[in-house]
Amino acid sequence: LLEIVGIDKSFGSTQILKCCSLEVHPRETVVLIGPSGSGKSTLLRCVNLLEPADEGNVFFRGEDITRDLRNAPRLRREIGMVFQNFELFQHLSAAENIMLAPMKVLGLSRADAHDVALDLLKKVHIPAKADSYPDELSGGQQQRVAIARALAMKPALMLYDEPTSALDPEMIREVLDVMAELSAEGMTSIVVTHEMGFARRAADRIVFMEAGEIVETAKSDAFFGGTVNARAQRFLEQIL
Ligand code: ATP
Ligand code: MG
Repeated sequence: LLEIVGIDKSFGSTQILKCCSLEVHPRETVVLIGPSGSGKSTLLRCVNLLEPADEGNVFFRGEDITRDLRNAPRLRREIGMVFQNFELFQHLSAAENIMLAPMKVLGLSRADAHDVALDLLKKVHIPAKADSYPDELSGGQQQRVAIARALAMKPALMLYDEPTSALDPEMIREVLDVMAELSAEGMTSIVVTHEMGFARRAADRIVFMEAGEIVETAKSDAFFGGTVNARAQRFLEQIL
């Protein structure tokens, strides 16, 4: 579904990504881990063209999308992104947040978009919150609205950038549960997270980045089974 081949990315004279390559197959969930500043967010941003890569190529559904920004609108439709800070529209209710893109981009009627929103709110386990505004929702609920909003475009790929790191501990689980359910249903996903419990239960593969390089890519079983790269091992010991 997605193939990243040897991408480099610099900001000014600082090289942030160094020849990163990664393949993500349909229905796969890949968890991306690594120290702060290692380039995880930048890598995700190169995938949906928020930051075009300098060198190398990104193929989505077999098509080279790397540097042609004309692909960006289509990619934003087909690739859902969820951020650390939810980024909901504060002046819109939960349902309206979800309805916006389907109406504007897919041309759904208000009634149809509303049905989609109610279905998705059910899917993320907050069916009664359609008319609540973001400031009336807990962080965990807001993040689940953000996930529902991304799903409303029926994306082929979901990117999550530390979706639970702004949440209080008691709300982390409800968000991870929704993500794990989506993964189990076959939603292809790349997840940047430090939640190793989630990685263990939902990931097919773990990718470890350090200083702009992909140091290790391992099947989840192998990674948690102990046969892991020494640098990845050291990182795990720090965060666990
Ligand atoms: P974290 O775990 O803290 O989110 P990360 O692995 O996601 O870190 P990135 O956000 O990708 O790391 O950042 C990698 C490096 O690139 C950092 O040194 C950061 O300062 C730098 N960087 C990121 N975006 C920009 C930008 N727009 N301009 C200049 N430097 C940037
Ligand atoms: Mg980041």
